Amino acid sequence: MPIEVRGLTYTYAAGTPVQVIALDGVSLRIDDGEFLGIIGPTGSGKSTLVQHLNGLLKPQEGAVLVDGVDIWGRGTSLKDVRRRVGLIFQYPEHQIFEETVYEDVAFGPRNLGMPASEVDRRVREAIKLVGLDEGILTRSPFELSGGQMRRVAIAGVLAMGHPTIVLDEPTAGLDPRGRDEILGHIRRLHSERGTTIILVSHNMEDVARLATRIVVMNKGKIVLDGTPREIFGKADVLHRIGLAPPEVTELMRRLRLRGKDVRMDVLTVDEAREEIVRLVRREAGAVHPSGVETRC
Ligand code: ADP
Repeated sequence: MPIEVRGLTYTYAAGTPVQVIALDGVSLRIDDGEFLGIIGPTGSGKSTLVQHLNGLLKPQEGAVLVDGVDIWGRGTSLKDVRRRVGLIFQYPEHQIFEETVYEDVAFGPRNLGMPASEVDRRVREAIKLVGLDEGILTRSPFELSGGQMRRVAIAGVLAMGHPTIVLDEPTAGLDPRGRDEILGHIRRLHSERGTTIILVSHNMEDVARLATRIVVMNKGKIVLDGTPREIFGKADVLHRIGLAPPEVTELMRRLRLRGKDVRMDVLTVDEAREEIVRLVRREAGAVHPSGVETRC
C-alpha cells in the first residue's frame, strides 16, 4: 500500500498579503514497511505535508495517491483512506475527552463499526502496546500524568489498526524518559506489527536511531532524501538550513574542520569511539614510525 505524493503545493491564506507557501512542489513515495523520518526546521512544511497523507488537507496542486489511487479522485472514499493511514497529531492528549481511559481508546474502533468483542480486544492490545497496565482502563484520563495521557491518546489511534501511522512530533514536551518510552513503542509497532511509520521530528538523535530513511525539508521543499548515514554525512547542508546533526556527527564535523581525517557518517557513540581510536592510533603512528602502541 505505497503512498505517493506528486507535485504537492500548498499555500495558506493564498492571495492575501499574509500568504505563506508551505509546500512547493513536493514529490515523495513511501513504501510498505518503511520507517521514514521527516525532519526540517520549524515552518519547513512537515506538518502541512503529513496532513495531506490521510486527506486532512486537500492538495491545491498535485495529488496524493494511496495504493495507486488518487485519494481525492471521484469514487474514492476518504473514510477508507483514513482506515489505512492514521495520523497522530502533536499533543494528541488535547483530544482526549471520554470519562475513562477505556472509553477513550474504544472510541476509534467503535466508530469504525466493530463489534463490542473486537473493540474490547483492540483496546486491551493497544494499551499494552504503549506499555500501560490494563488497570488503567477504568481510570479517568484526566488524573493521569502527562506522559501517561500521551500514551493513552496514542493507544486510541493504534486500536484502529492502521497499516500506516503518521506521528507528528509525538514526543514534544516529554521528559527524556517519557520520550524514550514512546519511541520504544513506535519502534516495536514497526518491527513487531510491520506498521509503516512516518515520524515527523526535529530531534535528529531520535530520527537517526529509528528511521530507515530520512527526508529533510526546508522552505516547503525536500532538500535531502536518503538513509540516516547518507543524510548525517551531509552535515554541512544540515547546518546551512539551521539543523543540528546528532552530537556524534557534529563531533566528527568539528574534527574535520581541524584537518583530521575522520568519517563523516558516524551515527552512534560506539562508532565515534572507534573512529577516534583509529585517528589517535594513526597520529601516534605518524609521530612514532616505530609503531609504538598508544593507549587511549
Ligand atoms: P513545520 O511542521 O515544518 O513546522 P508547517 O507545515 O506547520 O511546518 O508550516 C509551514 C508554514 O506554513 C509555516 O510558515 C507556517 O507558519 C505556515 N502555516 C502552518 N499552518 C498555518 C495556518 N493554519 N495558517 C497560516 N499559515 C500556516
